Amino acid sequence: MYRIDHWIDGRTVSSTSGRTGNVYDPATGQVQGTVGFADLSEVDKAVAIAKAALPAWRATNLSRRAEIMFHMRELVAANRKEIAALLTKEHGKVTSDALGEVARGLENIEFACGIPNLMKGGYSEQASAGVDVYNIRQPLGVVAGITPFNFPAMVPMWMFANALACGNTFVLKPSEKDPSASMFIAELLKQAGLPDGVFNVVHGDKVAVDRLLDHPDIAAVSFVGSTPIAKYIYETGTKNGKRVQALGGAKNHMLVLPDADLDMAADALVSAAYGSAGERCMAISVVLAVDTIADELVSKVKDRIPNVVVGPGNDPSSEMGPLISGEHRDKVAGYVAGAAGEGATVVVDGRDGAPTGGFFLKPSLIDNAKPGMKCYDDEIFGPVLTVVRVKSYEDGLKLINDNQFGNGTAIFTRDGGVARQFQFDVNVGMVGINVPIPVPVSYYSFGGWKASLFGDLHMYGPDGIQFYTRSKVVTSRWPDPRTSKVDLGFPQNR
Ligand code: NAD
Repeated sequence: MYRIDHWIDGRTVSSTSGRTGNVYDPATGQVQGTVGFADLSEVDKAVAIAKAALPAWRATNLSRRAEIMFHMRELVAANRKEIAALLTKEHGKVTSDALGEVARGLENIEFACGIPNLMKGGYSEQASAGVDVYNIRQPLGVVAGITPFNFPAMVPMWMFANALACGNTFVLKPSEKDPSASMFIAELLKQAGLPDGVFNVVHGDKVAVDRLLDHPDIAAVSFVGSTPIAKYIYETGTKNGKRVQALGGAKNHMLVLPDADLDMAADALVSAAYGSAGERCMAISVVLAVDTIADELVSKVKDRIPNVVVGPGNDPSSEMGPLISGEHRDKVAGYVAGAAGEGATVVVDGRDGAPTGGFFLKPSLIDNAKPGMKCYDDEIFGPVLTVVRVKSYEDGLKLINDNQFGNGTAIFTRDGGVARQFQFDVNVGMVGINVPIPVPVSYYSFGGWKASLFGDLHMYGPDGIQFYTRSKVVTSRWPDPRTSKVDLGFPQNR
């Protein structure tokens, strides 16, 4: 049994609230650690420390901030196996998937290394006689990040890399289900040269989150998690005058047209539906199969499912690990159990033959689903792929656009014209063309539409820089001072 506490002012600080949560090993189902839950005074302490660290950090020059991000980049790369092992240990995902998570998170730190370029403003000389106008981007202050269980390293990296590089100080409230990765990251940031107090971690539940949402010294909140909580975070945070971006849940549809390469589509479906046990907000959970190829596609997916090796994440032969908790596993299994009663067809039942001991399920395939059935309407967030048969491209498009979520989607086709029309028509934030999981690279931004995002700006990339800064416009006129001096040294910026 181990214990996880907060990270405040560059060191571990024990929680004194007396409230704790269990951290499970999802592969065994056993409790392996406890995490201290912050009370109001502990959150207040972290925010006060972050506020105290702000003046010096925002005055730290851009080159130095970039240098720390470069160091962090090297440290994360050097420690990627250690971080991945922590992800497997507490989240349960298999090692290859965990390494992928670290790699995609690292991209965001690499992006933030370019902060001197990213924070450039514009300049208009001679807007009036002798008058120049320019804009500068400045940090917001103390900002908070609240993150979900499914990417315990990558999602914090989506947030803190840009936030810190822009000159903000940060308080992270990671998922209480897999909190260790955030502590490891905090230590790496310290090693990278980040001054104490600039990055802090408080663990906990709604008590900590609510305090961050109403704390007067928190300027902005970035959230990633489920839609009901995202909506609550957005409404509460904005009511309290904060800038908020809150990313929510998803139900990502893949539309497979008759001209698609069906083997390629089936491979992509199995990878995107069952990878990480379906606990990805960009997982494909619905396939829209046009009638003429639906039987063949379902049969190709069905044939591939027995080959998916389900087992503990740290077993190199495992391709799919357990779910995050027993409660969640049972909830996911409930959708499969209820599907036949709703009129759908259970082609593969993942409750059969799942490894025992941990929170395991095997992949499930449900055919003949329709809107109005829970297995179609709800975000299941598990290894369940639901097939809806459609008559045409238009039919499929309508279902996607009618869905409450709009995070990701994909079309599989050989017809470039239809693919281009799809990209034009579809009301979804991230679109894949023969790419099942179109998570944008770090120099674009990540975000869904509709109930998948509350707020105006997407996460990371250029939107991230905008989110974590505000613009100030200066109009300036100078007398000619005629002051100068001789200095033969090479101009330096440090
Ligand atoms: P969650 O909403 O339960 O929790 C997210 C965070 O909110 C956690 O830190 C948690 O402690 C906190 N929280 C939970 N309940 C709260 C409450 N009542 N009040 C205040 N704070 C609360 O989400 P999760 O189960 O950790 O993650 C899975 C969900 O996240 C899925 O819905 C998935 O689609 C979504 N997700 C979305 C994206 C995206 O980019 N859109 C990315 C990853 C995950």
